[in-house]
Amino acid sequence: MPELPEVQSVVNYFKPLLLNETIHSVNHLNDYPKVFETHTTSELNKHVSNKKITRIWRRGKYIILNLSNGHLCIHLRMTGQLQVGSSLNDNTKHFTALINLKNKSKIYFKDYRKFGRIYFFKNLDILNYKLGPEPFDPSFNYKYLKNNLNKSRGMIKPKLLNQKFIAGLGNIYVDEVLWKCRVHPITRCDKISAIKIKRLLSAIPEILQKSIDFNGTTIINFSPGNKTKGEFAKYLNIFGKQNQHCSHCKTIIKKIFVSQRGTHFCPKCQKY
Ligand SMILES: [Zn+2]
Repeated sequence: MPELPEVQSVVNYFKPLLLNETIHSVNHLNDYPKVFETHTTSELNKHVSNKKITRIWRRGKYIILNLSNGHLCIHLRMTGQLQVGSSLNDNTKHFTALINLKNKSKIYFKDYRKFGRIYFFKNLDILNYKLGPEPFDPSFNYKYLKNNLNKSRGMIKPKLLNQKFIAGLGNIYVDEVLWKCRVHPITRCDKISAIKIKRLLSAIPEILQKSIDFNGTTIINFSPGNKTKGEFAKYLNIFGKQNQHCSHCKTIIKKIFVSQRGTHFCPKCQKY
C-alpha cells in the first residue's frame, strides 16, 4: 500500500503535468461510480469542471489538487495508480476514473483492487480532523512525541500506524524506523526511553526523505507514474527480509504479526 514517500513521489511526478492546468471533466469508468466517494459523477463535475489546479500536494496519504472552490483529493489505497494517457498494453478494465484536462491530457486512475477513492472537499477540515501532524512539520517534535507516547499503554507499532497520531506512515516504514531505532515493535509506548524517542524523532523524517529521494518503494503494484518504479526497495533493511541476516548484527530476521500486520524485526538489535 502506498505510504507517504510513495504518495509524495506521485505528487512529484504529476506536479509538472497538472499544475496550472484546467480540469475539463471527470468520469467514472467501467461502471464504477463508487470511485467518487463524496459525490455522484454529475455533482462532482459541477464542482470541478473548468477549475484550474493551483497546487498539487500531499497530506498524509492523500494527493490533493487545490481548485479555486475546494480540493479534489485522491487516495490510492492498496493498488491505485495514476497514469497519463493509455496504451494498447493497458488492461482497461482496471481503470476506475478519468480526469480530462482542457489541454486534452487524460489522467487515468487505474486500480486493480478498486479500493482507491476520489473525493471533493470544500475545505480540508475533515482530513485535518482525521490526520495527525506531518512527519516533516515542526509540530511533529519531541514534546508532541513524548507527551503522546507517555500516555499510551499500547504497542509502538500500531501507534505509529495510527494516522491520527502521525500522518503518512504504513507497514514498510514503521518496520524500517523501529529497526533503525532499535525498538521492538511490541514495546509499550510509555516504556520507550527518552533516547529512543529522540531516535524516533530523527529516524522517521530521515527514512521517509531517503525513500522520497528514490521515488518510494515498489514491491508489487506501486508506480509513481506511467510505468515507473520506486527504487527504495534496494535500501530496505528489515521489511520483507524475514529469514535473512540483519545487516547490523547478522542475526536472522524474524517475522511476526502485530495487530494483524506482518512485522519484521531483528531479535538482537530490537530486544524486548
Ligand atoms: Zn540485528
